[in-house]
Amino acid sequence: MRIEVKDLTYSYEQSSKKGGQVALDKVSITIEEGEFFGIIGQTGSGKSTFVQHLNGLIKVEKDRGSIKIGEFDLTDKKCDFKALRKKVGMVFQYPEHQLFAETVFEDVAFGLKNFAPEMSEREIEERVEQAITLVGLDYSKVKEKSPFELSGGQKRRVAIAGVIVTKPEILVLDEPVAGLDPAGKKDFLALLKKLHKMFVKTVVLVSHDMNVISEHCSRAAIFSAGKILTVGTPKDIFANEDELISLGLSLPTTAFIEKRLSHSGINPKSNLTVSDFIDKLCEEFVGGKR
Ligand code: ADP
Ligand code: MG
Repeated sequence: MRIEVKDLTYSYEQSSKKGGQVALDKVSITIEEGEFFGIIGQTGSGKSTFVQHLNGLIKVEKDRGSIKIGEFDLTDKKCDFKALRKKVGMVFQYPEHQLFAETVFEDVAFGLKNFAPEMSEREIEERVEQAITLVGLDYSKVKEKSPFELSGGQKRRVAIAGVIVTKPEILVLDEPVAGLDPAGKKDFLALLKKLHKMFVKTVVLVSHDMNVISEHCSRAAIFSAGKILTVGTPKDIFANEDELISLGLSLPTTAFIEKRLSHSGINPKSNLTVSDFIDKLCEEFVGGKR
C-alpha cells in the first residue's frame, strides 16, 4: 500500500476565535510500499499531527488536502476506518501508558477482538501468543500477569504486541525509543527490523535520534513549522549541516565524523550507516575492503 498525501493542511481549534494555529501547511508526500521512512523535526513542527492522520485519528477536513493509502481514500465519507486501522498500526510515544486490561493476554487480544470480531477463540489465542513471542516475551510467563506488574521495557513490548497482533501492513511509530536506555533502544530497533522483514511492509518512524534515521531509513523528511523542508535519503537529509543546526537538529555520528574528516582532505563518501562508513574509510586508508 502506497501512502499518498497531497496538500494536507490542519489547524487545531479551528472553530475558536483565535482561528487556530496551523499545525500542517500543505504537506505533500508519497511514501512507497516497502520503505522504512523517517520523520524528523523540532518539537512542534507537526510530526505527530501528520502521523495521526495516517490512520484517521485526525480526519482530513473538507478542502484541506487528501490522503490515499492503498485502496483507502481517507477523504471519502465512506472510508472504512476500521478496516484501515487494521492495516495501519499506530504506536504512540510511551505506548505503555495505554495499557489497561487486567492481564497481558486481554490487553493484546483487545485490538484483535475489536478489528476481527469473527475470529474464533482459538485463533485469537494463537495470534496473541505469536505477537507476544515476537516482541521477545515469554508467553506462558506473562499472559496471566497484570501489565502493571511488568518492567517499563516489558510494558512497552506488550503495548507493541497489541498493535502488531492484527499484522498491520504499515506500522507508524511516534518516537517509540524515547525514554529507553541504549540497550532497550537497540533491542527495539532490532524488533522493528524483524517486523519489517515479516508482515510489516512499510515503517513510518518519527524519531529525534539522527543515528536511528541514518542507520535504518531508506528515506526521511524534515518537518519545520508544519511544512516539509526536505525529503530524501539520509545522505540528502544530512548534507546540509547548517540547515539542520538552524532547525535545532544535529548530524548522525557518521555524518559528523565524515564532515570533519573532509576538512583534512579525507572524503569517505559513505551512505552514513556505521557499516558502510567503516567500509569506505577502509577503502580510503587501507586501499581495500575490510
Ligand atoms: P511535533 O510532534 O513535531 O512536536 P505536533 O504535531 O505535536 O508537533 O504539533 C504541531 C503544532 O500543533 C504545535 O504548534 C503544537 O503546539 C500544536 N498542537 C499539537 N497538539 C495540539 C492540541 N491537541 N491542541 C492544540 N494545539 C496542538
Ligand atoms: Mg510529537
